[in-house]
Amino acid sequence: MIKSRLDKKRRYFNTGVTRQANFRKQVLLALKEAIRRYEKPLVEALAADLNKSAYESYMTEIGLVIQEINRHLKFLDKWMKPVRRRVGINAFPGKAYTLAEPYGLVLILSPWNYPVNLTLMPLVGALAAGNCVALKPSEFSPHTTAVLQKMLQESFSDQLISVFVGGVSLSERLLEERYDYIFFTGSSPVGKKVMSAAANHLTPVTLELGGKSPCIITADADLSLAAKHIAFGKILNAGQTCVAPDYVLADSNILDRFVHALARALNDQLPEGLHTKGYPRIINQHHFDRLLGLMADGKVLVGGQVDAQSHRIAPTIISQLSADDTIMQEEIFGPLLPILPVQSEDEALDFISQREKPLAAYIFSQNKNKQEQLLRRLSYGGACVNDTISHITCQGLPFGGVGYSGMGAYHGAYSFWTFSHEKSIYKKASVFDLPLKYGPYPHSYRMLKWILH
Ligand code: NAD
Repeated sequence: MIKSRLDKKRRYFNTGVTRQANFRKQVLLALKEAIRRYEKPLVEALAADLNKSAYESYMTEIGLVIQEINRHLKFLDKWMKPVRRRVGINAFPGKAYTLAEPYGLVLILSPWNYPVNLTLMPLVGALAAGNCVALKPSEFSPHTTAVLQKMLQESFSDQLISVFVGGVSLSERLLEERYDYIFFTGSSPVGKKVMSAAANHLTPVTLELGGKSPCIITADADLSLAAKHIAFGKILNAGQTCVAPDYVLADSNILDRFVHALARALNDQLPEGLHTKGYPRIINQHHFDRLLGLMADGKVLVGGQVDAQSHRIAPTIISQLSADDTIMQEEIFGPLLPILPVQSEDEALDFISQREKPLAAYIFSQNKNKQEQLLRRLSYGGACVNDTISHITCQGLPFGGVGYSGMGAYHGAYSFWTFSHEKSIYKKASVFDLPLKYGPYPHSYRMLKWILH
């Protein structure tokens, strides 16, 4: 069944229809139209899966996908054009250019935390680049997955887009098949499995993974601004965001003042604590219990309230931790925020550099030299200065990780290039032909040395 559906897609791709610019634009327009038609069911499903408010769902999921489609529609002709490249003296006379071609059959595996965004954003890039797509959304956001399945099946033929619904065993079964590209968003341990399955067929992959994204707060930082943005990053989707601030390294001179500012900011943004309307819940019992376990480490300074029935956990600031505590070892992926004191920026740099490379880094400082030093010396997928999360919404920036937080990047033009193979093409001019490459070769190669220098 899986194989025959995938074979059908390959045959469809081989007809060449998906390569045409007009076809791609029609498909993107149809996708936008489908999302508009299904906006209400999608919002309801996100509320059922994660208790997201309609506002948050549009801000972080639906609206971003619509914007992404519009950007692809606007620039597709430009991106599809051949790009003239330099020939140089070696291949003179002639013309060189690159041409983007679709890979063919793409597999997209997506997670539950932003199930609309993280399923449809890569889909936009894959379709704009002219591919056929097999999609498997997460089994842990079943309401949203069901709406996505209905919306896509109603709007597109199974030859172009197939939606597969199921859990790990289905994912493993899908990964046994051969694709021309695999785009995976999820955890680093599963990312390894995906990459190893892809290696069987030498299939290229993009891995959008997670990790522990640090915040550094220097002694000169604007503390109320830092508190406002860090509170936002932790409250958003109850911290279940791949680029959520995972922990804070605060200069010990300002740590107490920062904790006060953060407590105030959390209260401003979530006036009724975990009972505030639209505050998301933890996705399932497993993750709820896991987060309660992490709260056992250190001392709770602010928050700590939980509601087992609705799976909600108040944003919780935790201190008096050591680097060996479990909460400092694994990605938190919830509304808990450990805060550790540091004596200097160098200590913060060392702390972060000794760990896996994070997906995001957040620097709070008013000093431009300190900002620059940290931005350059740390390794991370993307960073914000005096903000959190917002870099992923910048229209010109690639979004992706490095090392354990992933490989490859997408969004906007980067999506188009992620899902396209760039062919190198050389057209020989026939006006004349440099005789130097043909044998029999002379003993002296002085002329060649002059050319190849
Ligand atoms: P996950 O890795 O458990 O699952 C992701 C997808 O892989 C799902 O579709 C799932 O069914 C499938 N899967 C799970 N186990 C599998 C296995 N053994 N073999 C094959 N497929 C398998 O991740 P999750 O819990 O859904 O999402 C949370 C993780 O995703 C966090 O680590 C988070 O940081 C990361 N994430 C990263 C980004 C990003 O853009 N970089 C975005 C969101 C989430």
